[in-house]
Amino acid sequence: MQLTNWQKILQQAHNNHYHLMDRLHLTGNGVLVSDRAAEAFPVRVPEEFFRRIRPGEISDPLLQQVLPIRAEDIKEEGFTPDPLSESIYQPVPGLLHKYRHRALLIVTGACAIHCRYCFRRHFPYNEANPSSGEWHRALAYLRDDKNITEVILSGGDPLTLTDRRLARLAELLAEIPHLKRLRIHSRMPVVLPERVTDDLLEWIASTRLQTVIVIHSNHANELGDMALEAIARLHAAHIPLFNQSVLLRGINNSANTLTELSELLFEAGVIPYYLHMLDKVEGAAHFYVPLSEARMIMQELRVILPGYLVPRLVREIPGELAKVPAELLMI
Ligand SMILES: *Cc1c(COP(=O)(O)O)cnc(C)c1O
Ligand code: SF4
Repeated sequence: MQLTNWQKILQQAHNNHYHLMDRLHLTGNGVLVSDRAAEAFPVRVPEEFFRRIRPGEISDPLLQQVLPIRAEDIKEEGFTPDPLSESIYQPVPGLLHKYRHRALLIVTGACAIHCRYCFRRHFPYNEANPSSGEWHRALAYLRDDKNITEVILSGGDPLTLTDRRLARLAELLAEIPHLKRLRIHSRMPVVLPERVTDDLLEWIASTRLQTVIVIHSNHANELGDMALEAIARLHAAHIPLFNQSVLLRGINNSANTLTELSELLFEAGVIPYYLHMLDKVEGAAHFYVPLSEARMIMQELRVILPGYLVPRLVREIPGELAKVPAELLMI
């Protein structure tokens, strides 16, 4: 089978931390990196994201998101492999149904980039994924529950699937009368902008379902010309665009950094949606920003930005009926 351009670029993603360090003139910092962490969750950095990292800066906010470091090997109390107890919300393999009116399909375990803070880094994708596009059970579940009006394609990154498969899935979903919206959660427009192809825009334009894309960017440096161009193409196709970020120590835990991100996103036609409190996943404790600090940052943001550019600070709490706004959290 012939690979498309974006698939080739994805295949060529950087996958070796020593190589990364070498290319960024950071070989002197070798003691920081961890082979063990890289083995547990392999390095993956697509070229465009890599190009946005500033050479010679070990504390670069983009590098910090992808470099496996020794801090990941430290076990911290309260940080677990499945912090959201996601496995208990899977009525059928590959489908998470946690919130009444929307269901999330884990269509793949693959991502274009491996973010070291990811809460799904230990997720048993192999068990959860309906194999080779067998969606029967998930589709039957969606058909049976008329409460569900929105399906979220997630993963992993759903845009690692080919447009042919996605178009087919959208067709099957569109046949379910009570479904109104299809939401795509993807980091691809930002980290592998070549993924925003004509084929993608075409099948989105042709489905009866209203389609929404939620991109994932944590820092304005991620949004170079190529990413902005890809986003502009989605915007020109009248697809509602939102962004979610994760609040990360040493990467975006300042009002200035988040302001810059919100401003740039809005210029590109993207509305800031969620700012997630880090899910306490094993290996990511060094990224954690405590709630008191998070609230202070939010207060500053509300002073600087118009209300519609302030993302909602939320945390995912197992058992809750929706994501919980940080204002309501006690701890
Ligand atoms: C985040 C999430 C959703 C969507 O929640 P919204 O608040 O509508 O963005 C749905 N299902 C699961 C399992 C989620 O984690
Ligand atoms: S699921 Fe999202 S946050 Fe996690 S590694 Fe993939 S792209 Fe990164």
